[in-house]
Amino acid sequence: MQPPPPRQVVVFRLLSIYFLSIALSPIVTNACQQEPASAFRTPSIPALKMTTKLLKPINQPLTEPQPGEWLDQQKESGQSFSQYLRIRPIVLTPRRNKLYVQPIGQFNPKQLEIIQLSSEYLSIYFSCPVEVLETKSEDGIPENAQRNHPTQGTHQLLTSYVLEKQLAPELPGDAFALIAFTSSDLWPGDGWNFVFGYASFRERVGVWSLSRFGNPARDPESFRRCLERTCKLATHETGHMFSIKHCTRYSCNMQGSNSLQESDSQPIHLCPECHAKIVFATKADPVKRIDNLIRFSQEHGFNREIEFLKKAKEILKN
Ligand SMILES: [Zn+2]
Ligand SMILES: [Zn+2]
Repeated sequence: MQPPPPRQVVVFRLLSIYFLSIALSPIVTNACQQEPASAFRTPSIPALKMTTKLLKPINQPLTEPQPGEWLDQQKESGQSFSQYLRIRPIVLTPRRNKLYVQPIGQFNPKQLEIIQLSSEYLSIYFSCPVEVLETKSEDGIPENAQRNHPTQGTHQLLTSYVLEKQLAPELPGDAFALIAFTSSDLWPGDGWNFVFGYASFRERVGVWSLSRFGNPARDPESFRRCLERTCKLATHETGHMFSIKHCTRYSCNMQGSNSLQESDSQPIHLCPECHAKIVFATKADPVKRIDNLIRFSQEHGFNREIEFLKKAKEILKN
């Protein structure tokens, strides 16, 4: 009943188009407050289209996919900024303008740090407040919603239980989305090995697991890699919640991915088309957003992002 690993990851990514999720931390607090979106001077749609043209030269167009990569196996047409506007995308509103992060499980101190920092990164990336809720234990989860993987022995939680029973009833009124980060691995039901994450766009809830991103307590490089993977997954999936489809034009955080290796090869920044979508959906100040991304990247070792972000800032501020 165990599908081969490549297919499982593919299916996860397919599902991730339709479903989403996130993370959390130890205390009830506003972890990553930014100014309200209304305080930003939002670029007009013509200005965003012009910016898209100006940013193109610093972006890397995609070439033919390698065998086994996402676009080698999936037929996707992509989504330009103009196409995005035509589908009436889901955006932040004055009433629903906040992301909530719910940690579930037992985390070591380094994992809790990963959750806090990922929440800060989400706040910067989507220019909105993120609140990390008090960590929930797995104690109340019924036996039929958890298992040990039949061959790997890994402890896993059933995604539908987390989404429907733990998150959906707790969705705050001002939430754009409520996202759980779990310490345990996840599986979505019979016939599956695992998923990295799962979400329901309709319910605006999602769950992602830290369990396959390495032990951040091992050494500084393991911490950095785990943080980058967690931030990338969280922002990619939350991007889908803003109605953004997979990117097929450029090297971009919104590219689909068939494996952790393929995901690791992709950047965490957005291409010109996806950048315009996010600025439109969140009413972000693009220069302030880039400034904050540069600061975070410098502080936490996202070194391959810094040069790109600095070039983007030069273009955006003019
Ligand atoms: Zn995706
Ligand atoms: Zn893109």
